[in-house]
Amino acid sequence: MLTRKEYEAAQRRAAAMIEEAGVVVTAEESGRVEVADFGLSRLDQEGAQILTLVATDRIAAKIIVLFEGQTLPEHWHPRVGEDPGKEETVRVVRGTLRCYVPGEDILREGFVPQGKQDAYTVRHELLLGPGGQTTLLPGTKHWFQAGAGGVVMYSFSTVARDILDQFTDSNVQRVTRIID
Ligand code: ZN
Repeated sequence: MLTRKEYEAAQRRAAAMIEEAGVVVTAEESGRVEVADFGLSRLDQEGAQILTLVATDRIAAKIIVLFEGQTLPEHWHPRVGEDPGKEETVRVVRGTLRCYVPGEDILREGFVPQGKQDAYTVRHELLLGPGGQTTLLPGTKHWFQAGAGGVVMYSFSTVARDILDQFTDSNVQRVTRIID
């Protein structure tokens, strides 16, 4: 749950970071950056700002902005019928992305959000700077965290069905509630 004021402030902050990163978006697009608190009501610690550039029945391209120290909770993209699940490539434009995937626990630069040890189970750390990218195969658990100054990145994927994404933290609700 976010107040309208918090939601709009995060939207403006994300839009400014997109502009500073040199990514050209229209005024209409920067006005519809989605602010997600994942139902956890602590946006600065766990959340994400997402601008969908295109989403069809086959592909999606988004810009994801994370503020400094903000973590996008651990999740995976499950199989849906005939579709094996979303395959996603993230590519950093500005800042440093800490990306966590299955493998040896080498978490060093980043941190697990306070009190959430059980909700962040994959700890293999990839550090990606501008131009760095990685591909997350369907069903692979992952979570993202911004380094100093925040991060602006692209997410290119097969069809996105955000509402069906699975999160390790059972308290997550994918739809953000806004109160006036
Ligand atoms: Zn994902």
